[in-house]
Amino acid sequence: MHIIRMLTTLPIVFAFAACGPDAPTGRAEAQPPTADTAAERPSAPPGDAEDFAYETERFADVRILRYRVPGFESLDLETKKLLYYLYEAALESREIIYAQKHAHNLAIKRTLEEIIKHYPGDRDTETFRALEVYLKRIWFANGIHHHYSQDKFAPGFDFESFAEIAHETPGDFPLRDGQSLDDLLAELRPVMFDPSVDPKLVNRAAGVDPVAASAVNFYGPGITRDEVEAFYADKRDTDDPTPISLGLNSRLAKQDGELVEQVWRVGGLYGEALERTVMWLEQAVTVAENDAQREALEKLIEYYRSGDLEDWDEYNIAWVADDASNVDTINGFIEVYNDPIGMRGSYEAVVQIVDPVATERIAAIAREAQWFEDHSPILDEHKKANVTGITGRVINVVVEAGDASPATPIGINLPNADWIRRQHGSKSISLANIVHAYDAVRGGAAAEFAHDDEEIERYETFGARTSELMTDMHEVIGHASGVLEPGVPPLHESLGSYGSTIEEGRADLVALYYMIDPKMVELGLLPSVEAGYTAYDEYIRNGLMQQLYRIEPGADIEEDHMRNRQLIASWAYELGGDGVIARVERDGKTYFDIRDYDALREIFGMQLRELQRIKSQGDREAAARLVERYGVKVDQALHAEVRERYAALDIPPYAGFINPVLTPVESDGEIVDVEISYPTDFATQMLDYAERYSALPTWN
Ligand code: ZN
Repeated sequence: MHIIRMLTTLPIVFAFAACGPDAPTGRAEAQPPTADTAAERPSAPPGDAEDFAYETERFADVRILRYRVPGFESLDLETKKLLYYLYEAALESREIIYAQKHAHNLAIKRTLEEIIKHYPGDRDTETFRALEVYLKRIWFANGIHHHYSQDKFAPGFDFESFAEIAHETPGDFPLRDGQSLDDLLAELRPVMFDPSVDPKLVNRAAGVDPVAASAVNFYGPGITRDEVEAFYADKRDTDDPTPISLGLNSRLAKQDGELVEQVWRVGGLYGEALERTVMWLEQAVTVAENDAQREALEKLIEYYRSGDLEDWDEYNIAWVADDASNVDTINGFIEVYNDPIGMRGSYEAVVQIVDPVATERIAAIAREAQWFEDHSPILDEHKKANVTGITGRVINVVVEAGDASPATPIGINLPNADWIRRQHGSKSISLANIVHAYDAVRGGAAAEFAHDDEEIERYETFGARTSELMTDMHEVIGHASGVLEPGVPPLHESLGSYGSTIEEGRADLVALYYMIDPKMVELGLLPSVEAGYTAYDEYIRNGLMQQLYRIEPGADIEEDHMRNRQLIASWAYELGGDGVIARVERDGKTYFDIRDYDALREIFGMQLRELQRIKSQGDREAAARLVERYGVKVDQALHAEVRERYAALDIPPYAGFINPVLTPVESDGEIVDVEISYPTDFATQMLDYAERYSALPTWN
């Protein structure tokens, strides 16, 4: 066996703990654009040419891109109808994410939209332009907090000018019962303009109560973590082998001093939107491709009606079983990253169609899942005896909504419930047309941060392929790998707020470990082992330097994926010493040069073994120690340097997408075709959505 299974020479202190875990899943989030390669991708839309403008505009720290749906026009009518119904189902509930994130998000959004639509005065003023940018940022983040840093936006104009503009606008403002415009403005004033009010969407800083200190609207005002834990303590049956995802689909509020779950379902909280989503899902059922898909859609409808989390689990089981359809959708309250204690799911929807050629590539990986598990450096007792149901597919997105839009993941692996994953498997997708759009706009960051020409050249040759393969391995093999020790509770319970960082790190390490394995060449996934070095170069560059450009000076790293990348890279740097990764200063610039790829692989293997042990045993203490030591604090001098180098490159740190528009063509009341178009203006699309998909009341 050519795989090094254990590393005994490194000065690592293994912690021992007991208690157990279970796993989440989640998503690979788009990495900062790090390269300037134009390498060919197998999944590139055919005939894709320069005449399609991928980037449409920039504002604040983001740029807006578009993506195409290759081959849509030539789909058969039934498939087009199915996609159209799922598209409407996705969009109808898109505003739920605003309501989930902050109780005033919809009021602020709708007030600003009225102004943008109807303000009769001069728009070419500093104040009005600032107001436009503020609204665009809200659209981009689905609320008043930055989608990534989670800090509340500063509006860039003052309250007095805002009030004046509002008064001059003959708009239909979202007033509460009996409210005057002045009352509304007074209510919004502290939320919008006082930086000390709800400054952070999710606050997990050490020493604060994460529930009370977070602005997110999953919990009513004044509720503490202890109260939440007490509320769920007797609802949790630790012996249940098929536990429901407690709290996933409700807001927890205090009524008459008692905590109650306000369930998100038809007839419940956000029911006005969910009802419309259900109506479209019912249409989709009529054109389902096959029985498995029909059953899954019917169970989703049932769940949205009942709000029963056992129905949610049943839906997920049916959804996993539907693994042969061309069309698929993700629609639900799914990822828990926006909840400081990882219970409540943000509304998210993705509608997709399979990319057959690229799917064969990912299938080649999935077929080898057991080989990867057997050869993994993790402890034998943490390996899965039978890795089942791993479905990796490459898809093209047709529309995204809620938490998945405008900023989007590039890979998704679901469902999240560990027992369903174990017993029924999971589905992994890689979002090909999104990745392709990112590639089309890559800037020159790799050249700036790479240590030498060899590294740059390798990146230009193999970068697109290795980053794609990293995502595939992360999703298809990484999240699927490993088991919990008996009696260990689900990941987010055992590891608390460190759970996501450990899980994402674990999945990255599985990918990294195999990236320079000859098996990759044998499977035809890489042309050579050396090509895999590209992934190591990029990971270290990004984890130690490049990703820092996304955070503000003096800030800690908050986001889980960023935390896990820095954790892995800086821990590996420390473990290996100069002989493995050398820090080089040249012309006042810092570079990290990998000197020994095989040794670095051994280190990744050791890290993987430890992260898997932490998860399998639910060792929260060890998780906390690693994350706090390597994943949170930023080297201030290096951070300043990275920002300076990026400033010279002029690349916005974030990107989000305008969705295509599907338009049914009707004849005698029947849909005879569905046309696709690619709008070019972000604000126009947002205003159009606000018009069409606004079933939710402003005040919930
Ligand atoms: Zn992941």
